[in-house]
Amino acid sequence: MKKIIIAIDGHSSCGKSTMAKDLAREIGYIYVDTGAMYRSVTLYAMRNGLFNEDGSIKLDELEASIKDINIGFQLNQETSKPDTYLNDENVEQAIRTMEVSAHVSPIAAVPFVRTALVAQQQKMGEAKGIVMDGRDIGTVVFPNAELKVFVTASAEVRARRRYDELCAKGMEANFADILKNVEERDYIDSHRETSPLRQADDAIVLDNSNVTIAEQKEWLLNQYLRVVAE
Ligand code: C5P
Repeated sequence: MKKIIIAIDGHSSCGKSTMAKDLAREIGYIYVDTGAMYRSVTLYAMRNGLFNEDGSIKLDELEASIKDINIGFQLNQETSKPDTYLNDENVEQAIRTMEVSAHVSPIAAVPFVRTALVAQQQKMGEAKGIVMDGRDIGTVVFPNAELKVFVTASAEVRARRRYDELCAKGMEANFADILKNVEERDYIDSHRETSPLRQADDAIVLDNSNVTIAEQKEWLLNQYLRVVAE
């Protein structure tokens, strides 16, 4: 069967990763969570004092360090899901905190950060057979992807999902703070100058506010089967 590139973009916390991960496992494709890559750069910046008191970024220092930030993924045998590694350290949990969520969108708006990460993402997709999720996959990283999906849901539904997810992991969570963070990230992600979040003209839109995970999974598998049969 021909191998394709599947680009899944959309708003924060809309269940993109869940559907992308499930599909990749089912069809034997590689899954790449590009949000985890931007989160890893953010964690590195937080740990190395690259944020000023007012939340702005020490851009010169970050640019000088960008070559020292190596991000990779390794399959976790226990969860059967890929874990994110920052310079050989497993940071899968550390990059999911509210603190990282609160700092990630400004980092993701920095042009040299995007250039570096997009180049790595394009390399990962050279052999196709990949499901990649993010904000700019169908528009910038792989404009020729054979299947593009743009996922969205209301901000309340998305905040509720993230809240449940953090609670389930035993992590600290406050619904109002999460909703505010989801709305702020939507705003910054859609208004930044470099690669703003927008739907590719040829993407199929899925509003999953009222769709179960199982229904969404089946829908995506059918989209994939349709494209590879063409
Ligand atoms: O997908 P996730 O919510 O983990 O992404 C974290 C942040 O990384 C997003 O809010 C966005 O600012 C940024 N991002 C991006 N481009 C991508 C993936 C994520 O700008 N391709």
